[in-house]
Amino acid sequence: MIARKYLLPRVIEMNYQAEQRLGVNVYLIDGGSEFILIDIGFEETVGEIVDLIRGMDFSLANCRMIIATHADADHIQGLARAKEIFKAPIAAHPDCTKALEEGDPILTFASIKAQGIEIPMKPVKVDRRLSEGDVINVGDQSLSVWHTPGHAAGQLAFKMGDALFSGDNIYKDGCVGVIDAHHGSDIVQFIASIERIRDDDSVFLLPSHGPAFRKDKAVLDATIQRLRGYLQMADFGTCATSWPLLDAWERDVMAGRLPNLGNI
Ligand SMILES: [Zn+2]
Repeated sequence: MIARKYLLPRVIEMNYQAEQRLGVNVYLIDGGSEFILIDIGFEETVGEIVDLIRGMDFSLANCRMIIATHADADHIQGLARAKEIFKAPIAAHPDCTKALEEGDPILTFASIKAQGIEIPMKPVKVDRRLSEGDVINVGDQSLSVWHTPGHAAGQLAFKMGDALFSGDNIYKDGCVGVIDAHHGSDIVQFIASIERIRDDDSVFLLPSHGPAFRKDKAVLDATIQRLRGYLQMADFGTCATSWPLLDAWERDVMAGRLPNLGNI
C-alpha cells in the first residue's frame, strides 16, 4: 500500500501523491466512505492515476463522481477512459456539456492547428450538471459549487471548509487561465470571478495548475488591476471591450485630420 499524502485534511492531489509532474492538478476528495475526483487530465496519465488510487487502498467502486472544472483538453481528455474504469458519473457545468459530449476539438483546445497541436478528444456523456449553489456531498464532506466564468464559460470552483478549489481562475504567481475567445473567455466576468475569490473567507486556494497556496489579497488585487487593463487592449482581440486608440483614430479620419508625424 502507498501512504496517502494529504495536502489538506481529506484532500489528496495526484501530482504531489505521485511525486512527479503528471499534468493538471487532479484532486481526490476523501469523504471517508467514498471519494470524488476534480479533473482527470490527459488520457495517457489516467492509468497511472488509477494505480495510485488503488495503491492508496481506495476502492474504485467508491468513486462517487468525476468532475470537469471546465472543458479544456488538459483537464478532461481522459474523462471517457476514466468513466469506463471508475464507472462513475461525470459532472460539469451546463456550459461545458456540448463541448464534452461532442468532443469538440476547438472548444476543448484539443486542436490548435496553427501550433500543430492535435490530440484525439473522445466524447463523453455528462451525467450530472453542476450549477452555482449546488452542494456535492461525498461521504462526510460537502462542497459548494461556484460558477466562476471568465477563463471559460463553464468554469467551476468548489468551496470546502476554508479551502477553495479555484480552477483556472488564479495561480500562486497571480497569473490566470488563458484568455482566448475560442472557448468563451470573458474578461469582465473573469474580473468578477477573481473579485469573488478575493472577497471570500477561504484561506487556501487549490488551483488547477501549480502549487496550492494561502490566499494573498494583494496578489489578487494586482491581478484584478491587470485584467482591468486588458479590457482596453488590442492584445486581447475580441475579448477586449474597446480599443481607445482606434476610437481616436476613427475620429481623426472622420474629421479629415492627418496624424502629426513631425518633420517629414
Ligand atoms: Zn487549465
